[in-house]
Amino acid sequence: MLFVIDQWPEWSFEDKRAALDGGFDRLLREGEWHVGRHPSAATLTAPGHALLGTGEPPARSGILANEWWHRDLGRVLRAVEAEDGSIGARWLRVPGLGDAVAMHDGAKAVGISMKERAAILPLGHRGIAIWYDPKIAGMKSNSEIAWLADYNRDHPIAPQPWTPLDAARLPGLSGVADDQPGETGEKGFGATFPHDPAKTRDPVDAVFAMPLGNELVLDTATAAIDREHLGADEVPDVLVISLSAHDYIGHGWGHESWEAWDAELRLDQRIATFVDDLDRKVGAGRWAMIVTSDHGASPMPERSQGGRLTHHQIQVAANNAASAVLGQGDWIDNAHYPSVYFSKAALAQPKGELASATKRVINALRSFPGIDRVDLVANVAGHCESRTGITRTLCLTFDPERSGDIFYMPAKGWIMETEDEPVATAHGSMNDYDRLVPVILIPPGRHAHDPQTAPATDEIDMVRIAPILAGWLGVPAPSQLPR
Ligand SMILES: [Zn+2]
Repeated sequence: MLFVIDQWPEWSFEDKRAALDGGFDRLLREGEWHVGRHPSAATLTAPGHALLGTGEPPARSGILANEWWHRDLGRVLRAVEAEDGSIGARWLRVPGLGDAVAMHDGAKAVGISMKERAAILPLGHRGIAIWYDPKIAGMKSNSEIAWLADYNRDHPIAPQPWTPLDAARLPGLSGVADDQPGETGEKGFGATFPHDPAKTRDPVDAVFAMPLGNELVLDTATAAIDREHLGADEVPDVLVISLSAHDYIGHGWGHESWEAWDAELRLDQRIATFVDDLDRKVGAGRWAMIVTSDHGASPMPERSQGGRLTHHQIQVAANNAASAVLGQGDWIDNAHYPSVYFSKAALAQPKGELASATKRVINALRSFPGIDRVDLVANVAGHCESRTGITRTLCLTFDPERSGDIFYMPAKGWIMETEDEPVATAHGSMNDYDRLVPVILIPPGRHAHDPQTAPATDEIDMVRIAPILAGWLGVPAPSQLPR
């Protein structure tokens, strides 16, 4: 099993570890805690999940971000959205864990998440993906699975107000007030408890940012184990679980917040019952799991003398700089992190003019206080195997064909946000708080030991997660499959 806790920074788990004496404690009694390092600067959900299931960073997976500008189509598409609007792994260039187990007759691969991209991408091009669809207030699948409609009917979504499990503990554990500076809330929730979904714009959508969202995914996973007979025979099955609510809660309130603490304490309890269910349904010692994350997150910018920038600010600055050379016009099609795309009109300018405009744009972006590094994508993309250090990290971030013309990287402590969606914190950069995540390996044939209280000192390159899982399953690593 691949168990993903969406937006789970290593630093935040280390801060909380001592308070977690339930499911996490059990995982650390049976498993080995390492620090994982994401290989690229695309520390975002879609590239992160693609990497976990395929072993390939954006330069080879083709999954650049959660959504990106398609120059030939002239529009933005989500990572799992095809030109015709259908949902699937259309843009994923490589196979995933679902493809790897599909070589065995009768093998099953199931991915379950609140987010469609997190359910689909780790599997690759085969397997059953199940995600939450607020339009039907229930779980939806890419496959015809007969039990899901019954499951939705028997488990109606009825979100109750979110109040802390133990409010008295939270000030001491978090060291902050419930309304620490910078908290924005999520999905229409405010900065402080209680969080009543009935008072938000859309209570069924608000589930994304509540511990209930994690419960829904784990409840559905337990049902899928029964209904799809996962782990019932000797043929390898793979189950991917991704807890998206953890990500929304991080964005809304920050990992230092009461909300993040309460969500982690609840998850600690829920993981304990989930793992007990695994023992009962699949059999103790008959399952193995990697618990990890698609990316980390920044501490609140208020704590690190950092700040927030919007993608729109970058686009306006880039267009103004280009206009200073080319005259007023729409010279930038898109500037959503991490890359800036010149418009067709800009690219059609005479070579010398375009070169001066490019230089001007690079200088303009370099002058932002929160931007660390700006360069041409062409200077870092391609031939990653021959590059080292930061240049290699940048190389693995970009697809020479699909990425934009210029890239930019936020400085330490600075986060990118969308104009109409302010956040407490975010992720996506090449800084360590975004790249380092816990990796708990719970291998087959394990023996219990004293629960670990700190990670091993070595780092695991996150490209290894998919091959390790494939090895445990006795199937070829996705990268070894014929393309
Ligand atoms: Zn994520």
